[in-house]
Amino acid sequence: MQKGKINVTTENIFPIIKKFLYSDHEIFLRELVSNAVDATQKLKTLASVGDFKGEFGDLTIHINVDKKKKTITVSDAGLGMDAEEIEKYINQIAFSSAEEFMEKYKKDTNAIIGHFGLGFYSSFMVSDKVEIITKSWKEDKKAHKWACDGSPEYSLDEVEKKTRGTDIILHIDDDSTEFLEDARLNSLLDKYCKFLPIEIAFGKVKDWKDGKEEETDKDNIINETKPIWTIAPTEVKDEDYADLYRKLYPMAEEPLFNIHLNVDYPFNLTGILYFPKIGNNVEVQKNKIQLYSNQVFITDSVEDIVPEFLTLLHGVLDSPDIPLNVSRSYLQSDANVKKISSHITKKVADRLEEIFKKDREQFESKWDDLRLFIVYGMISDEKFYDRAAKFALLKNTDGKYFTFEEYEKLIKAEQTDKDKNVVYLYATDQDKQYSYTEAARAKGYDVLLFDGQLDTHFVNHLESKFENAKFARVDSDIVEKLISKEDKREDQLTAAQKADLTPVFQSQLTNSESFIVSFESMGEAAQPVIITQSEFMRRMKDMSEMGGGAAFYGNLPDSYNLIVNSDHSLIGKILEKTETKLGKDVQKIREEKSGLSDERSVMEKAKEGKKEEEIPQADKDKLEELSKKIDALDTQRIEKLKKYGKSNKVVKQLIDLALLANNMLQGEELAKFVNRSVDLIKG
Ligand code: ADP
Ligand code: MG
Repeated sequence: MQKGKINVTTENIFPIIKKFLYSDHEIFLRELVSNAVDATQKLKTLASVGDFKGEFGDLTIHINVDKKKKTITVSDAGLGMDAEEIEKYINQIAFSSAEEFMEKYKKDTNAIIGHFGLGFYSSFMVSDKVEIITKSWKEDKKAHKWACDGSPEYSLDEVEKKTRGTDIILHIDDDSTEFLEDARLNSLLDKYCKFLPIEIAFGKVKDWKDGKEEETDKDNIINETKPIWTIAPTEVKDEDYADLYRKLYPMAEEPLFNIHLNVDYPFNLTGILYFPKIGNNVEVQKNKIQLYSNQVFITDSVEDIVPEFLTLLHGVLDSPDIPLNVSRSYLQSDANVKKISSHITKKVADRLEEIFKKDREQFESKWDDLRLFIVYGMISDEKFYDRAAKFALLKNTDGKYFTFEEYEKLIKAEQTDKDKNVVYLYATDQDKQYSYTEAARAKGYDVLLFDGQLDTHFVNHLESKFENAKFARVDSDIVEKLISKEDKREDQLTAAQKADLTPVFQSQLTNSESFIVSFESMGEAAQPVIITQSEFMRRMKDMSEMGGGAAFYGNLPDSYNLIVNSDHSLIGKILEKTETKLGKDVQKIREEKSGLSDERSVMEKAKEGKKEEEIPQADKDKLEELSKKIDALDTQRIEKLKKYGKSNKVVKQLIDLALLANNMLQGEELAKFVNRSVDLIKG
């Protein structure tokens, strides 16, 4: 019997391995099984170059559990190790790489994707003793048994072993007995080993016999050794893609389409990406892509490897060229990873363009399920924007789809304003903005629909990308002004009439400081009163709500325009009534005011050219008194008009109708509106 001491500087790394990697103990199985796969493939390589001339026999890797002895054994019929190789690969190399791993790990606990690189020694995360029984493929070598209980001491003895290959026996410690359960092992094998290239047997196939489930003597193979992403795309059928998708995501809806990636220069990358039906929520869809390295599952968080928007896709990426035992920040700056990432982006865009060109109808039918993904990509990835601008679609409120180019052609003639900007009109809610949309369409304009989760950003983005273009939501102004053109209508009301009507309307606004009352000639057919919110203010508020900066605007109170249509007959009637009721009073105040104003003008004229100290104090006092009187008359006039306005139910009704059209009439005000309407109908 030979004893030795493993040559490491750290006295005992096992307690540290156990403590540091607590949540990742389960990877031991992946490490041991992939070592068994490696050993088997190395044997095949030896045979192919003619070094190994014997029979392979059955190369299946077996996993056995002995619940009584609390052991898990991983057995392979690979190339095995002789005594010197154990000394070299296990005592020296594996140990020093485990130590190196620990060094990296201490610096950055989240550093290593799937903690790849710990290798054989990860078995000590779940065991208090590990044994290796191995017999080399070289005929003249004796079999050996290596054992270690986690201290730096190990033993190495000659043993009897008839067959070539290696058994790794883990004596599971008391904290890790969960791994002795079949169900737990099955789920780990499914997660990490499902697509390994050598058959792996765990347990026996079960069969139904006389209504009972019974074990047959057939090995239960848990993996598929040739997953379709390792096969040339020309040899894969449509149903194979569907099968793989179901295997990866048993619960998911069928995907829209897929991309088969297959590159071997300048880096190795295979994989199949699927476009899922993305609803309207970006968050829940992420982290579905699985990353493999030579068919060994590594992780399902690939956000450091592909651009963020691509994490919305599903599927498999497999590349031995992604460095896996490095820190995340390093990974993102790695040249290979950058190349891989831009390659995938390009392929995704190419595939979408191909479908768009080949089958526009299909593309349109899938657009609503795809658009969030494409919009996300266009906003966040400059290169993807440039590619996608050729096939991205705009949908209008009629449900028709247009490319950017087509749409510009469609609206250019009607929707170019006097500054030569093409104005893109849009709605974000077809129901809420119905009347505005209809008004715009009645004028011959087209209205787009932007009702997606990312559309506030997308509108800003498109506006910055399109040349000589402006975007305006249909309710951001009255239809005449959405696209401002030269022809200005003759105004129906005089300045004095507007000045009198303003307090009448103000008097009936519950929240008067949030509204600015103004007058516009909108034609007799338009609504008598309309409420708009400026495009700029609304967008700033939307952005700050989404956390996109502009926090200052988020804190401002809402501000709206109450626009009175001076062409409307009802407004004419309100004016008439106001004049009959208050005309004389108001007229008197006006006359008095104009007398005082004249007096003031004369005095001010006399002051001209004089220095301050040359003006007699009496004159100064007189002027101040005049100004005060004029202000008081104004207040008096406004108060009178407001008092009258408050009693005018029609004014209130018109304001409420405008609020209602904007979904802004709620609660008590809405109830009052309903009652008042009934009263008005009763007459
Ligand atoms: P890695 O697999 O990255 O080389 P490991 O720590 O997993 O690192 O394994 C160290 C070495 O031990 C392997 O390179 C291999 O030479 C040897 N080894 C481990 N498991 C086996 C096995 N089942 N059969 C033969 N050799 C093995
Ligand atoms: Mg290994």
